[in-house]
Amino acid sequence: MRPQKEKDNELWTIITRRMQQVRAKKFLGQHFLTDLSVAQKIAETTLKGQSDEVQCTTEKVRVLEIGPGMGVLTQFLLKNPNIQLTAIEIDRESVAYLREWYPELNLVEGDFLKLDLDQLFPEGEFNVIGNYPYNISSQIFFKVLDYKDRIPVCSGMIQKEVAERLASKPGNKAYGILSVLLQAYYDIEYLFTVHEHVFNPPPKVKSAVIRMTRNKRRRLDCDEALFKTIVKTAFNQRRKQMRNSLRSLLENEKMSKCENEKLSWFLTRRPEQLSVEEFVELTNLIENERNQDIL
Ligand code: SAH
Repeated sequence: MRPQKEKDNELWTIITRRMQQVRAKKFLGQHFLTDLSVAQKIAETTLKGQSDEVQCTTEKVRVLEIGPGMGVLTQFLLKNPNIQLTAIEIDRESVAYLREWYPELNLVEGDFLKLDLDQLFPEGEFNVIGNYPYNISSQIFFKVLDYKDRIPVCSGMIQKEVAERLASKPGNKAYGILSVLLQAYYDIEYLFTVHEHVFNPPPKVKSAVIRMTRNKRRRLDCDEALFKTIVKTAFNQRRKQMRNSLRSLLENEKMSKCENEKLSWFLTRRPEQLSVEEFVELTNLIENERNQDIL
């Protein structure tokens, strides 16, 4: 264990450097973490979820950090010999800071949401990590979903409420579109809560660290595009029975005269009551019902 005094000095250096060089910008969701032990704990989340197979090989694990800011988390990732790190940061001031203090970092300046991941990583897998910009966290996770077969682990810090939503189970108020879509392909762990006072400036909300580990399911047993549409359409009117919210997907007549008992039962439910498996079943039932037209 290093003496506390040394740790405090290091933290102080970071804080003073930050104050001199980078102004926190609200529109970029900038809340810089000031607690090094929290930063270290977040950095450790990326390799733990990895399968034993990966841990045993000598190959480094590629990790992409989103929004490194002033590198509080980055420094721990860089120190880890098992990690090959790339980072993407949108803020020019932070980029200048990182280039000065961490010249060894492979840093891309730009917007993660517009980043061409196929160009950055033409093949193979990579983990995603960050103390994410909270204002775009849902968009970040939708993009992770687009690359789910290449992202075995996605972990980091987000707004506590969002973390609870992602990890929540059916029947829970917080259960929503992202919970279903992410849980279809990832096991989601709520790891720990982080209080506002370890940030500068402190955010208005509490934060939490999560880890999503790709599950074994390669494909859903249904039309995946239709599944996504059904989940989104149903949750857009989450208080309504699905016979009302899914009208655009199944003709009125089929809704009312539906002879399939299971489908009729599903249609009387609200979306927050259905598990991923049940949404898969519902998707297949709706697809069958629609196909009857064609036959
Ligand atoms: N990881 C740092 C900073 C967290 S704040 C820390 O823990 O202290 C969020 C960071 O994401 C900021 O640095 C912000 O500039 C960056 N950011 C915001 N939107 C982004 C985007 N679209 N693409 C990449 N980085 C972004």
